[in-house]
Amino acid sequence: MTTKTLRARAALLASAPLLLGVLPLSIAPAHAQAVRSAPTAMPIAPSVPDAVDTPYPGTIQIDVDATDLAHRVFRTKQVIPVAPGTQTLTLLYPEWLPGHHGPDGTIDALNGLRFFVDGKPVPWTRDNVEVYAFYIALPAGAREVTAEIVYTSPVTGSEGRVVMTDDLMNLQFNQMTLYPAGHYVRQIRVKPSVTMPEGWATATALDGQTQAGNVVSFAETDYQTLVDSPIFAGKHHKSWTIADDVTIEAFAHDPEDLVMPEGEQEAMSAMMTEANILFGSRPFDHYEFLIALSDELGGIGLEHHRSTEITLSPGTFKSWEDGQYPDKYGFSVDVIPHELVHSWNGKYRRPALTWTPDYRQPMRNDLLWVYEGMTQYWDLPLAARSGINTKDMTLAEIADAAGSYTIEPGREWRALIDTTHDPITANRKPKPYTTFSRSEEYYNEGALIWLEADMMIRTETNGAKSLEDFARRFFAAQDGDYGERTYSFDQLVADLNAVYPHDWASVLRERVYTAGAPAPTRGIELGGYELVFKEEPNAFRAGIQEEYDYLNLYYSLGMSVNDDGTVRGVLWDGIAFDNDIITGQVIEAVNGKAYSAEVIQDAITKAKDGTPIELLVKRGEDYRTVSIDYTGGLRWPWLVKKGEGETLLDRFLEARR
Ligand SMILES: [Zn+2]
Repeated sequence: MTTKTLRARAALLASAPLLLGVLPLSIAPAHAQAVRSAPTAMPIAPSVPDAVDTPYPGTIQIDVDATDLAHRVFRTKQVIPVAPGTQTLTLLYPEWLPGHHGPDGTIDALNGLRFFVDGKPVPWTRDNVEVYAFYIALPAGAREVTAEIVYTSPVTGSEGRVVMTDDLMNLQFNQMTLYPAGHYVRQIRVKPSVTMPEGWATATALDGQTQAGNVVSFAETDYQTLVDSPIFAGKHHKSWTIADDVTIEAFAHDPEDLVMPEGEQEAMSAMMTEANILFGSRPFDHYEFLIALSDELGGIGLEHHRSTEITLSPGTFKSWEDGQYPDKYGFSVDVIPHELVHSWNGKYRRPALTWTPDYRQPMRNDLLWVYEGMTQYWDLPLAARSGINTKDMTLAEIADAAGSYTIEPGREWRALIDTTHDPITANRKPKPYTTFSRSEEYYNEGALIWLEADMMIRTETNGAKSLEDFARRFFAAQDGDYGERTYSFDQLVADLNAVYPHDWASVLRERVYTAGAPAPTRGIELGGYELVFKEEPNAFRAGIQEEYDYLNLYYSLGMSVNDDGTVRGVLWDGIAFDNDIITGQVIEAVNGKAYSAEVIQDAITKAKDGTPIELLVKRGEDYRTVSIDYTGGLRWPWLVKKGEGETLLDRFLEARR
């Protein structure tokens, strides 16, 4: 409907309301002929050039003004040389970013676009299909284009991940810069600088950092390295060297959070030693752990080749001192070895279909169960061997993952391979029934597959060989090589066969591509442990429940409940589900007592003798009483050792240094 017909209709309504009732009868023919117009589709003509492996002519100057803390705004100026005779400059905003596993470039916050040639504004348009592409029409004789960008970073978490606060920031160049289309991003030269708020410290993996006043400049580099080298900056900063050319660069709102007791520093150093022993070589010349101890900055754990971006709860580091560690934060610290392992697995060795020449070409996620699954696997021994985490916490983490697959109905329909598409299809947003839909299972289920493979090799070779031999072979790097070497499924299988000949192709395809398999617990059993259920949460789940103020009752009543009684999640086909309890409803009372985590746990325990559990459930304005006959008691998954003595899994978690 156009505005013209709307106006005509409005006029009709205003002037002749009484006629309306009879009008259709008076004009409608007795038997209208059915008509259905049928247009032909307009083909989409590709207009953005594909990337080729040739150098972009010239070096792009990139200057970011990061001083507008008051409004959380970054302002970028880019001076982009153009080849003589260029009529249209095509610029791209990064969409498919390494490590994100989906097309989630934050283009909604890219604003204030203006382009100039010789100081005069020039017009731009956006591609009507590829909305991350911009065309800048150039006047004859143009030799460079100046671009101005205002990146309006999220002010609240509901708008996106908060990257700027009053006293620390996480600056990612992909968020506030454009790059020319048509070239591999490693072939685009850039010279970056950032103007920082007064008195702030700056940390990054970018080389050649110098500072003049508040302007921090870096050596010329390529756009790929720039995007892979984010900055953490802030008022309060502390740095620790934990190995040759490896530092922890930590930022916090409160300087008191920047305390790292000696034992913790030793564990961090030990983690690097254990990583060197495990992999045998280093695919980086230096490495910076960029860590924000913050609950204001949006959460992140993102791998880069020579650095990582991590947020941890403010008290994590200092908790080593006051004895809260690892009970309180142990569940969260494996992110540190996890992102480190990615330098080998994911950054250096990358699935050929995941590697892309720019941030426009879609990534294909088929081997994420290696990229993420094996990273998830190796972070366990690095944490336990170094002392970053306790062995108990590590066993609890494995139990928690394995346990979840014993009650996951979604396994029946959705094979692991299909969950590798989840970062694209679900875009990492919350889902109503993850036990039915499944989520990014290639992390934990992938890790359990590698546990099985490792324990099988150890068993079959009487401990002479293990997946560690595979790691040293598959991830072997020339020290300092921070490029990428890609691989296929067949090449992965070939390296496994070189360590221990077996029908790896069939085994892995069966585990990854087949729906309906039972929970992947064979690695635990081969490792000399078994998955059992106890009436108290394991250390890993207890830590998460305490930090996020909820109770996970999936293994008993089939739901998780926030400490205020609000249902947080419901197990598909579980007891709560069968009683029509869904996420967001509120459990007001249990057996006549106001809801609390203690009250419901007591009720579940008392119900073991056959007493029903009565829940008063609020749904909108309505209350109803739900009576549940459940006698199984409280249940959480644990790993317990079978028999006596050291098992393969024990040996796996033991220090090597
Ligand atoms: Zn990861």
